[in-house]
Amino acid sequence: MNLSIEDTFNRELTPDTNLENTRRKVFGAMYSFVKPKVPSNPKLIHVSPEMLENIGVSTIDVESKIFLNIFSGAQVYENTRSYAMAYAGHQFGNWAGQLGDGRAINLFEVVHDKKRWALQLKGAGETPYSRQGDGLAVLRSSVREYLCSEAMHHLGVPTTRALSLMLSGDDVLRDVLYNGNAAYEKGAIVCRVAPSFVRFGNFELFAARNDTENLRKLTDYTIKYFYPELGTPSKETYIKFFKAVTNRTLNMIIHWQRVGFVHGVMNTDNMSILGLTIDYGPYGWLEGFDFGWTPNTTDREQKRYRYGNQPNIALWNLLQLANALYPLIEEAEPFETILNQYQTEFEIQFLDMMRSKLGLELKKEEDKKLIEDLEECLLLSETDMTIFYRLLSSFERGKEADGLKLIEKAFYHPNEIKDSIDTQWKVWFEAYDKRLQLEVSTDQQRQIRMNAVNPKYVLRNYMAQLAIDKANEGDYSLIDELFNMLKKPYKDQPKYEKWFAKRPEWARHKVGCSMLSCSS
Ligand code: AMP
Ligand code: MG
Repeated sequence: MNLSIEDTFNRELTPDTNLENTRRKVFGAMYSFVKPKVPSNPKLIHVSPEMLENIGVSTIDVESKIFLNIFSGAQVYENTRSYAMAYAGHQFGNWAGQLGDGRAINLFEVVHDKKRWALQLKGAGETPYSRQGDGLAVLRSSVREYLCSEAMHHLGVPTTRALSLMLSGDDVLRDVLYNGNAAYEKGAIVCRVAPSFVRFGNFELFAARNDTENLRKLTDYTIKYFYPELGTPSKETYIKFFKAVTNRTLNMIIHWQRVGFVHGVMNTDNMSILGLTIDYGPYGWLEGFDFGWTPNTTDREQKRYRYGNQPNIALWNLLQLANALYPLIEEAEPFETILNQYQTEFEIQFLDMMRSKLGLELKKEEDKKLIEDLEECLLLSETDMTIFYRLLSSFERGKEADGLKLIEKAFYHPNEIKDSIDTQWKVWFEAYDKRLQLEVSTDQQRQIRMNAVNPKYVLRNYMAQLAIDKANEGDYSLIDELFNMLKKPYKDQPKYEKWFAKRPEWARHKVGCSMLSCSS
């Protein structure tokens, strides 16, 4: 296995001079050198062929001892120095101080086909930033991260990627429900990949400590490698940088809302400076459409990170980033302007995205109301978001009377669809039909467009849980099946028709299938 290594983060930025792997506060440094824990019996469960290709590794290499060793943490690749990043963050709205890679160890950067990829192991043991944690990850959460990050990529959502999923051979103690019933689970390691894993929190750490020198260094580094189009560092460039991060973050959120993804833990340490979906923990997919839904049990009361609040939280997080970057610019106004623009741009982009979900090419004044009325209908009786939009694409103009029948399968309680609910839906279908009459494209053309933005298959929590249950018994076939299916989420795949289905009733209240804790 011959990797084209081109490290930058751990060569150009400030290291922690303390080389001991002890838990502590780390000052004046962006990372600490640390080696992964050697796993007792690593075993490869799955690799992403697309990611292999991206980093220039052949399928023959995958069979090698060195691949197993490097991506399980048993061995450090020649001439590289692994490290954990220092960052801070706001968690659930509160300043949390230093956090850092508590269980992620960065291996190296590979440049292949002119693209830079940073690779890191999640769950490879403790680091100076592990606080009370053990630095490990369980199979359950690793399967969820592995499958979902690749699935999101194929959905067209900006995201970190995954190269491999391994068992460590070590057992890990976890109290899933935080109720005093800790039990051993299988340990696992995911190799995550992204151009960079730098988060909002990396900037916040230095700003909070008045360490402007490192703040500037980190910002210049990020611009140099990941926003080179912004030019050489200057006040103007830093403002453009904040604007660019805002744009990317907004774009990511629009995609989340489109596919019904709920991140679950939008803390500022989980916000990528590249606008990528990062840190797959207690995330979930909307089944019944519901602005108030969050999969995260830790957030059950406040529901800070609920589906409908994700756009606001992204803005709140951007405000924290603005505060962190302020010392480089020392003017509040440019930040305020950009943050205000986020709000107006969100509305425009959200409307356009919703038009695309409904197959509307023309932009009409009345579309906003049509969309709001639809959202109201979707809330009348539990309605599966994914199935609804997919079925709606078969709507034929002039057949508004058949609308409800067409989407029947999306209702969790079909017998509730009567009286006023039935009427409200019928009124909506009449308005939709009327609006479609203004469009020039044919029904068939509209269907093709709609099916390209409304996925047929998403990784519902119960599906991931089924794959996890099998994997815990040593059967990885369902991981492979879901992985392959989710590569083509917009395509009708008759052999996977069973996955185009509502969440089964047994999964409604089962642990891992609807709500999840942060325990991972
Ligand atoms: P998360 O909620 O997963 O984004 O994690 C928040 C912080 O806790 C990050 O600094 C993580 O690295 C750290 N962390 C989470 N789980 C563990 C663990 N098992 N061991 C050590 N650190 C952890
Ligand atoms: Mg995190």
